[in-house]
Amino acid sequence: MAKIQMKTPLVEMDGDEMTRILWQYIKDDLILPYVDLKTEYYDLGIRHRDETRDQVTVDSANATLKYGVAVKCATITPNADRVKEYDLHEMYKSPNGTIRAILDGTVFRAPIRVQGVEPNVKSWKKPITLARHAYGDVYKNTEMRIEGPGKAELVFTDAEGRETRQTIFEFESAGIVQGQYNTVPSIESFARCCFEYALSTKQDLWFGAKDTISKKYDGEFRDVFQRLYDTEYAEKLKQAGITYFYTLIDDAVARVMKSEGGFIWACKNYDGDVMSDMVSSACGSLALMTSVLVSPKGVYEYEAAHGTVQRHYYKHLKGEETSTNPVATIFAWSGAFRKRGEFDGLPELMAFADKLEKATLQTIESGYMTKDLTLLTTLTDIHPLNTRDFLKKIAENLNKLI
Ligand code: NAP
Ligand code: MG
Repeated sequence: MAKIQMKTPLVEMDGDEMTRILWQYIKDDLILPYVDLKTEYYDLGIRHRDETRDQVTVDSANATLKYGVAVKCATITPNADRVKEYDLHEMYKSPNGTIRAILDGTVFRAPIRVQGVEPNVKSWKKPITLARHAYGDVYKNTEMRIEGPGKAELVFTDAEGRETRQTIFEFESAGIVQGQYNTVPSIESFARCCFEYALSTKQDLWFGAKDTISKKYDGEFRDVFQRLYDTEYAEKLKQAGITYFYTLIDDAVARVMKSEGGFIWACKNYDGDVMSDMVSSACGSLALMTSVLVSPKGVYEYEAAHGTVQRHYYKHLKGEETSTNPVATIFAWSGAFRKRGEFDGLPELMAFADKLEKATLQTIESGYMTKDLTLLTTLTDIHPLNTRDFLKKIAENLNKLI
C-alpha cells in the first residue's frame, strides 16, 4: 500500500521522559507505516534545550509561525530539583510559556470522549472545550502585606507624567493589598482566538466574568468580546449555525453543570486554571485530555495536556513494565495531521487522522486499555495492557480501517 503523502512539514517538538518514549513508539507503530512523514524536527528534550541555552524552543516556535502546524511532546519545566538532576546551566522558563509568548495564543483543552469512561457529570454527552486566557491578572500581580494603619492607593502615571489616583482602602489594622492588570490587545487576541476556534470546530462559544462586581476590569473583558462579536463575528457565527453567549461566571458554572457539553467555554485566567481542573477530573483522566494552542496569527500547536509522567519514566529506566496512556499524545498527532491536511488540501491525510482516532477509541471500547483507564472504566470485560502492547492493539485496529 502506498503511504499517504504530505506537502508541508509538521513542526515536530520532541520532549522528555516517559512521553519521549511514547513519542517514538507512536511514530513507529501508528504513523510511519502509513504516512510518508514530513516533519521539521526540534528536540525540546531538556538536555538539548540546555545545550542550546533554550534557543531550540524559540526556533521551534518560529518554525510554527512559518509552517502553521506543530505537534509537541510534553517537556520538563525545570525547577530546582531538575536543575540538579540534569546539571542545567539555568532554570529555563516553561517551554509552553516561551512558545505561547511567541505565538501569542490561547490554549483550548478538551476531554476525549470514549464509551466506557463516562464523565462524573451525567448530563455531559459531548466534550466541553475550555479556553483559558493565560495572560496577566493574579498570575502577574503585585501584592503587599500592610503592617498597620495607613492608606493604600492606586496610582497611574501616564507618559506625560500626569497622575491619576484612587483610594483602595484606609487601613486601621494590618492587612493585604494586591494590584492586577491586563491589556486590551491581549484580551482582544484571546477573544479573537475563541471566535476563530468556535468557527473552526463549529461549537457555540460561552464566556463568563464577574462584570456586576468588577465593572471596569471584568467589564472590559465583556465589552471586548461583545465588540468583536458585533463588528466581525456575528454574521460568520450565524452562517456556521453557532452562537456566542455571555453570562456571569457563577451562572456559567451552574449552566455548565446542567449542560450536555459540546461548546467552548472561554474563561479568564484564574477561572480557567480552576475550571479546567474541574472539567478534566470530572472526565476521568489527564491522559484523556487534549490541548491545542491557537494563535490569532492562524497557527496551531497540538499536544497532550498531561506532563512527562516522570514516575513511570523512572520505573521504565529500572526496566520495569509501565502502562502509560498514550491516547492524548496520539490525539495531538491526529489533530496536527487533520489541520495540516485542511491547510494543504489533503483529504487523505485528514481521513488518516480520523481513522487513527477511531482505531484508538475502538481499542478502548473493546476492553483493551492502559492501567489508568481500567480503574475508571464502566466496561466489565477488560484487558489491561502495557504501553507497547496497547499501541500494537491500536495498530491492529488501524490496519483494519485502512
Ligand atoms: P504528569 O506528568 O502529568 O503526571 C502526573 C501523574 O498523573 C502521573 O504520575 C500519573 O499518575 C498520571 N498521569 C499523567 N499522564 C498520564 C498518562 N499519560 N498515563 C498514565 N498516567 C498518567 O505531571 P507531573 O508528574 O507533575 O510532572 C512531570 C513533569 O511534566 C514535570 O517536570 C513538569 O514540568 C512537566 N509538565 C509538562 C507539561 C507540558 O509539557 N505540557 C505539563 C505538565 C507538566 P500515577 O503516577 O499515579 O500513575
Ligand atoms: Mg491548575
